[in-house]
Parts: sequence; C-alpha cells; structure tokens
Amino acid sequence: APLILWFRRDLRLGDHPMLAAARATGRPLIPVFILDPETEAMGAAAKFRLGLAVDQFAATLAALGSRLILRRGPALAVLEALVAETGAVGVLWSRMYDAPARSRDQAVKAALKARGLGATSHPGALIFEPWEVETGQGGPYRVFTPFWKAVRGRPVPAAQPAPGALPGPGLWPRSERLEDWQMAAAMRRGAAVVAAHQRVGEARALARLEEFAAGPLAAYAADRDFPGLSGATSGLSENLAWGEIGPRAIWHRGWRAMAEGNAGAETFLKELVWREFAWHLYYHFPQMDRASWKADWQAFPWRADNPDAEVWRRGLTGEPLVDAGLREMYVTGRMHNRARMIVASYLTKHLLTDWRVGLRWFAECLTDWDPAANAMGWQWVAGCGPDAAPYFRIFNPAGQAGKFDADQTYCRRWLAELGRSPGAEALSYHAAVPKSWALEPGRPYPMPLIDLTEGRARALAALAQGKA
Ligand code: FAD
Repeated sequence: APLILWFRRDLRLGDHPMLAAARATGRPLIPVFILDPETEAMGAAAKFRLGLAVDQFAATLAALGSRLILRRGPALAVLEALVAETGAVGVLWSRMYDAPARSRDQAVKAALKARGLGATSHPGALIFEPWEVETGQGGPYRVFTPFWKAVRGRPVPAAQPAPGALPGPGLWPRSERLEDWQMAAAMRRGAAVVAAHQRVGEARALARLEEFAAGPLAAYAADRDFPGLSGATSGLSENLAWGEIGPRAIWHRGWRAMAEGNAGAETFLKELVWREFAWHLYYHFPQMDRASWKADWQAFPWRADNPDAEVWRRGLTGEPLVDAGLREMYVTGRMHNRARMIVASYLTKHLLTDWRVGLRWFAECLTDWDPAANAMGWQWVAGCGPDAAPYFRIFNPAGQAGKFDADQTYCRRWLAELGRSPGAEALSYHAAVPKSWALEPGRPYPMPLIDLTEGRARALAALAQGKA
C-alpha cells in the first residue's frame, strides 16, 4: 500500500528528511500538493511564485517517473479522500512552524491517527528545530548573538542527495490542473514582468548556490550592503521560502567555504542563522506578526493606513533610495536587504505609520515572503521587536544613499524619472503599475513627501513620548 507525501513549502528532492524517511519504507509514494484555505490566503506575489514552484516541482517529479497530484480544499478532507481512493496507509510531511499551519497539522495528525493511519511530521525547513535551542535558563532566545553562539558549533546532519527515481503506485489518483487554480489572478501587475525575475526550482537554486559560493561570497561581508551591486548576495531567499533548496545544504556549503578560508563565509552563515532566529522567535511568540513584541510599545499611537502610506507603496515619496527599493520589490518580488531596512524605517519613523501597514504590503509584493523574517524585520526596524534597534535609530535615506549608493547605480536602475534614457528595469515598473496610478515614465520625479530633518524631529519627539 502506498504512502502520501504531502508537500507544502518544501518543493525539492535533496536535503529532504521526509522524502528520505518515505523512501526508506520501500512503499510506492504519491506526492500531493493541496491548495487549502491557509495557502489561498497568501499575498498576491507569494501565491504567484508558489504557482511557479509547484509547476516546476511537478515537472521534476515527472522526470523521475513520479507525479505531483494537485487537489484543492481543506487539507484533512483532501487527504482523507486520497486515502480512500488509493488505499494509502500513511501521510508524511515536513513541519511548518507558523501558528495557523501548526494547528492545521495537529488536527490532521490527530484525525489520521484516530483512523489508524500513519501521520508523521519531519524536519527540513530549518537547520535547528525551534525547541532545540534554549538559553541557560531553559527558555527561548530573544537576542541574536547568543543564539548564534549557541548554534554555530553544533553538528548538523549532512544534506541527503536527491533520489534518482521515485516508486509510484500502479494507479495514480486524479489530479486537478494548475492552470485552473489561477495562481496569478491576484497580481494586479503584469505577472510576466515579475516572472522574468524569478529563479525557479531546485536545480537553479543549487546552481546559484555554487556560483555564489565560488564567486561573490568572498566579498560578501563588504558588498552585501550595496544595493547597486547585482549578485553580491546569494538571492536564495525566494528558493528558501518555497523550500526549493534546503537550509542545511546552504549551511554545509558555507562551512566548507569557511574551512577553505573564504573571507565572506562567516558573515553569510550568520545571515542564514538570522532566518533560523526569525523562526525561533515566531515559533515561541506566534503573535510576532500582529503585536508589538515589547509591551511598552503596544499602545504606541502609530498612524493607521493613510494617504502618505499609499504614496510610499507606489514608490513616489521623492526620496530616491526609498522609491527605488519599493519599485524594485514591485517588479522583481524582492528587495535588497538594506533597502528593506530603509523603506521600513521611512514608513515607521518619518511617516509614523504602523509597521503592520508595511508588513502587509511586503506580504502582498514579495516572492520571497517569509512570515517570520518579515515580521522580525519590521519589528526590528520599528524598534518594538526583540533585539530591535533602539527607537532613536532612524535611518536617514539621503545619508544612506550617499553611503551605499554613492554613484546612484541602484536609484537610477529603478527610477526612470532620474535619467534621460532610463533602462529596461526602470521602465518595467511603469509598465507594471496599474493604469490608475497614472505613472508615465516622462513625468518629473516627485518632490520629497516630507523634509527629512523635520520628519526625523517629529519622529523622535513622538517616539520618545509615546513609547512608554
Ligand atoms: P543573503 O544576503 O544572500 O542571505 C542568505 C540568506 O540568509 C537569505 O536568503 C535569508 O534566508 C537569510 N537572511 C539574510 N538576512 C536575513 C534577515 N535580516 N532576516 C532573516 N533572514 C535573513 N527575508 C525573507 O526571506 N522574506 C521576507 O519576507 C523578508 N522580509 C523582510 C522585511 C524587512 C523589513 C527586513 C528589514 C528584512 C526582511 N527579510 C526578509 C530579510 C532580508 O532582507 C532577506 O532575507 C534578504 O534580503 C534576501 O536576500 P538574499 O537571499 O540575497 O540574502
């Protein structure tokens, strides 16, 4: 009798403990992807990118003589139907760590077990399970550096290689068609523009890891801060988000580089552990995407969504580095980390707007959307998160531009208004935005929405007073 492999955000074959466990049974395997209500609720770009990932993964499985069965509906109902149709004796999946997924998975596990079926969850999304890292006092970590020190010396199992074939059942259950799911439907912008910027699938992710480790990694510690330097960071976040690459594969490649004396390797490994830390926090504090972490911030009178925030979303603040970042995200589904920090600081400090307004826009636009990293990033910049920057740390976007984009490579790449003959990327933004935004490339660049000195003073006064 077969086993059902319930794939979610783990769309790969290598470095996949669940798949390894399933193969070890010698049973026929039925890979399944379920578009359940939890998955349907995702932001437009994330859902679109997931569609690309599922499509690619189905092709990868087909090349191994297997299939990816697609079904839509509540997970438990779909799994029960599949069990009835195929006579499967168990379901396996890789753990997810956000609260909605956890309660769904617990209910599924309990219901399947009650029927005498196998139901097992496996690691793979993270290098370190959130409950396996504890402070000396026995609780979760709240500060990054001690977390890093706690994990950096730990032995990590080797990433298993991808199998060369997957045994299937004699008879396959019916599959829905991915086209019918309309995964791009919520994209108001041209999906084709965004699609051109995605690196989809396990093979491409692994090739990128190798290319990055052999090249840009050496200069990563310095170059990662400059948004104009294309390819200076790994760009693997979109693959990690959908599980097209496993974090342990990256970890081991990083350590190998470190052993070889690569100067950028340690900084890179630390960044990878920031992702682990984000999930550690989110697991232990599931309200992190909704409530200010620090209690004395919970009543802070942030401005709710407002017209300035809409100007910000459209990349029309008149602050070049802020607008460049927001436009990069709109077109590519990703944004350079430094730009993420600067646009977030501008929204929460200069515009005193609730960090959750920004978090939601990122969740709508990012193809590397990661609920833990997104929530941690926003709370960190806003100043209300664990291990956050102090509230008086306000990024000056103009100063940051002078320091990290001195030759304006990044700003000119994304702002058509700045140059006489703007490049394809800058123009692609104007092609992608809804007509109603009336954003012709020939228009003059907007005046600053707010004077930076004034905005900073206003923010400092409000933050100092309102926080406690
Ligand atoms: P690299 O520099 O090559 O780093 C390697 C990997 O380390 C990344 O792929 C990522 O998995 C991890 N990593 C690096 N920096 C961070 C960080 N600060 N926090 C957590 N993990 C990190 N990252 C997401 O993947 N999804 C998000 O939704 C997301 N939202 C963010 C929101 C804000 C406000 C901020 C400030 C940061 C956010 N980040 C998010 C973190 C970071 O900006 C991206 O992970 C990074 O830019 C991805 O580029 P890269 O893959 O080239 O990273």
